[in-house]
Amino acid sequence: MGFDTSGLLPLSDALQGMLEQLACCCDSEQLPLPDALGRVLASDIASPLAVPPFDNSAMDGYAVRLADLASGTQLIMAGKAFAGQPYQGEWPAGHCVRIMTGAPVPAGTDAVVMQEETQADGDRITFLAQPEPGQNIRRAGSDIGKGACVLPAGTRLTPREMPLLASLGVASVAVRRPLKVAIFSTGDELKPVGTPLAHGDIYDSNRYGVRAMLARMGCDCLDLGIIPDEPAQLRAAFIRADEEADVLITTGGVSVGEADFTKQLLDELGEIGFWKLAIKPGKPFAFGRLPRAWFFGLPGNPVSAMVTFDQLVQPALAKLAGQHFERPLQLQAIAAEPLKKSPGRLDFQRGIMSQGPNGLEVRSTGSQDSAVFSSLSRANCYIVLERERGRVAAGETVTVEPFGGLLL
Ligand code: AMP
Ligand code: MG
Repeated sequence: MGFDTSGLLPLSDALQGMLEQLACCCDSEQLPLPDALGRVLASDIASPLAVPPFDNSAMDGYAVRLADLASGTQLIMAGKAFAGQPYQGEWPAGHCVRIMTGAPVPAGTDAVVMQEETQADGDRITFLAQPEPGQNIRRAGSDIGKGACVLPAGTRLTPREMPLLASLGVASVAVRRPLKVAIFSTGDELKPVGTPLAHGDIYDSNRYGVRAMLARMGCDCLDLGIIPDEPAQLRAAFIRADEEADVLITTGGVSVGEADFTKQLLDELGEIGFWKLAIKPGKPFAFGRLPRAWFFGLPGNPVSAMVTFDQLVQPALAKLAGQHFERPLQLQAIAAEPLKKSPGRLDFQRGIMSQGPNGLEVRSTGSQDSAVFSSLSRANCYIVLERERGRVAAGETVTVEPFGGLLL
């Protein structure tokens, strides 16, 4: 008999419950385009231009009118069109215009014939094939129509969006200020890296994981360090975080042994719920409101802290930051070896997926103890095992979730 898991809160309910309460809390500001990398758009970007702005040639070749080629295969070159230097001259019947890639096609052009399909003898050009109407012409507005929404509010600007916005002549954009997130670790046993350990001490590793994930999300981090399990110091840290940040994220101190202690303090300061989630790793989790800031209390076990941040806190922070959040990709894979699992919780086991002879396959990284960090560092995906599922035999199909932006 396993322990009773019927009262545990499903991940999807926890997520929905949180997201319903949260709204974007970051004002917008106008920034020059190069400074906006990594920021979240505060409003839709409508294209001020058609792209391309004029009909132009996709090839180096000759602009032709089909009527001129109806009765013969030879035309006389009337002149040349270059990118940035349109052809301005006359275009008499029986003539073509030499044209380069990106040059505006002269008015009346039906097609561009690539130069490899022609033979030139001085300015007498022979066409080796009959062109199709519209061939090799990039039409004005064929990429983006004037006024079209090119990027919706909530888009986080990556290197891919920068040239797109520049191509539209957008010099500055309205973006959200970064979300400000205070963090601290709790525990008398924790020491900062760079200091010696006494017997019973361990290094505080969670803060480095949480900081790194916040950096990936573009948040501003206020790192309050390590706070011992001592009410007065914890209280002071909670109050400071609440005054200075939009969000406080702590690790540790929410498990059964310690929750009462933190709970008392948080009941006094705000409205916090302590949840037992039906996920593994990561059962204990706290969420709620301090007078000003939102609070997320992650479990102390390092793997649990990372996984609950990735699965629960990331979508919540995205909403607070005004950022559109895409659900992670999930794929089907074949278990290349048996996987231990007991029914009752949704497992996020750490796996290594690879391309096998029969498609995608996945192996466990070994010990799935939530204190064993190497299980996460060697993994490239979660193996997501349904709540009611038991042991998985080799050859069964399982769901894998490749690590996304936060953990890569
Ligand atoms: P707690 O949730 O505070 O009961 O902690 C659960 C386990 O995680 C204990 O073994 C702690 O020592 C460990 N732990 C808590 N916080 C950290 C941290 N910041 N870095 C590394 N391990 C931690
Ligand atoms: Mg602790």
